[in-house]
Amino acid sequence: MVRIFNSLTRQKEDFEPLEDGKVKMYVCGPTVYNYIHIGNARPAIAFDTVRRYLEYKGYTVNYVSNFTDVDDKLIKASIELKEEVPVIADRFIDAFFEDTGALNVKRATEHPRVMDHMDDIIKFIKVLVDKGHAYESDGDVYFKTRSFDEYGKLSHQSVDDLKVGARIESGEKKEDPLDFVLWKQAKEGEIKWDSPWGAGRPGWHIECSVMARRHLGDTIDIHAGGQDLTFPHHENEIAQSECMTDATFANYWMHNGYINIDNEKMSKSLGNFILVHDIIKEIDPNVLRFFMISVHYRNPINYNRELVEAAAAGLERIQSSYHQAKERLETSVGSGDDGLYRSIIDEKIAAFERHMDDDFNTANAITVWHELATELNKYMRGATTDKEVLEAFVDAFDMFSEVLGVRLVREEILLDEEIEALIEERNTARANRDFARADEIRDSLKEQGIVLEDTKEGVRFRRG
Ligand SMILES: [Zn+2]
Repeated sequence: MVRIFNSLTRQKEDFEPLEDGKVKMYVCGPTVYNYIHIGNARPAIAFDTVRRYLEYKGYTVNYVSNFTDVDDKLIKASIELKEEVPVIADRFIDAFFEDTGALNVKRATEHPRVMDHMDDIIKFIKVLVDKGHAYESDGDVYFKTRSFDEYGKLSHQSVDDLKVGARIESGEKKEDPLDFVLWKQAKEGEIKWDSPWGAGRPGWHIECSVMARRHLGDTIDIHAGGQDLTFPHHENEIAQSECMTDATFANYWMHNGYINIDNEKMSKSLGNFILVHDIIKEIDPNVLRFFMISVHYRNPINYNRELVEAAAAGLERIQSSYHQAKERLETSVGSGDDGLYRSIIDEKIAAFERHMDDDFNTANAITVWHELATELNKYMRGATTDKEVLEAFVDAFDMFSEVLGVRLVREEILLDEEIEALIEERNTARANRDFARADEIRDSLKEQGIVLEDTKEGVRFRRG
């Protein structure tokens, strides 16, 4: 039985989906005005792993993750880049698939976009207005927060707690500082859609309520996202959806923890903002994924080079055992092994499942994977290896790899230092008139997409 820590009740609960064997899951996706940073990569990887494990357990998972392709950041980018909003959104959606694909994140069953749901959004807001949960104010529409008695249930705060410190800024058109925007009047020159309240665009929170309902129905099983979205985003999604449908919006709420960079918060002003697009040129994305899931999804991750290198070494060890076993398999035959190792393998598989059942504890699951590698190495040091036992080891490794989304086939991605070392070696070879070796190095780098260029400052490389 899978148990999930539900942010709503703050405890682990048995996972019982609405419909036997089927899971309806919604994960808040990125705003597509830039490449994703490693903070966005974490929920993508964490909840992809949840999905993979649920699929392993036999569930059919309907996984929906949205793209926010209309919002203030996109409008700002559109002005700065002198490009239309949809052009920018298309570009960064392509980049999102490229980057998450490198991280071995499966495509969602559906990736809905806000722009394709304007009619649904307007209808949804209209119902909220008609039911007295929202009101129009000079071209904007606001949600009347106090009209929802259970407001604050996800973030565990009462409306009265929230009231302290909340105030209406000058120029705001809302009646109560706790109210939030559902529809925003367009400013001159901004992208806009017609609505009963005039030309404008939706607020951020309403998008997810509408797209979750459109693609998954009134009640979903799992709603997931980053911890920073709990309040106000998810709290507001609950308020909108439950006022609209009078049904429970989501039965299980899952939130992943933060990522710090060298123990500091990631921010543009600190200059430690890491884009996945850039970092995977230096770090094997497979290692990045392995590193991220080596921490339980609810715990914070501290990202730094040493820890990533330690993860790389750990993965390397697992991969090396796997490859040796595959090689051995080619020459092994069945020898009627006593079954000791078979029972060890079964035990490790059971332990792996136990940890994954326990709120997807990938950190402990990886420990089990290391233990299995240790057992495999021990087995291969013995005098004979039985074909079927080796196959059982390989199958277990394949299963762990599939569930965790970590590839066992090593893709050689050279680090900058390794390239520099090869360039140095090539320079020496050339100085010694060993042109064969020099050419060999250039060609092998070229095969891996690295182009050498002779410049005044010496040989430089670029990734082609
Ligand atoms: Zn959302």
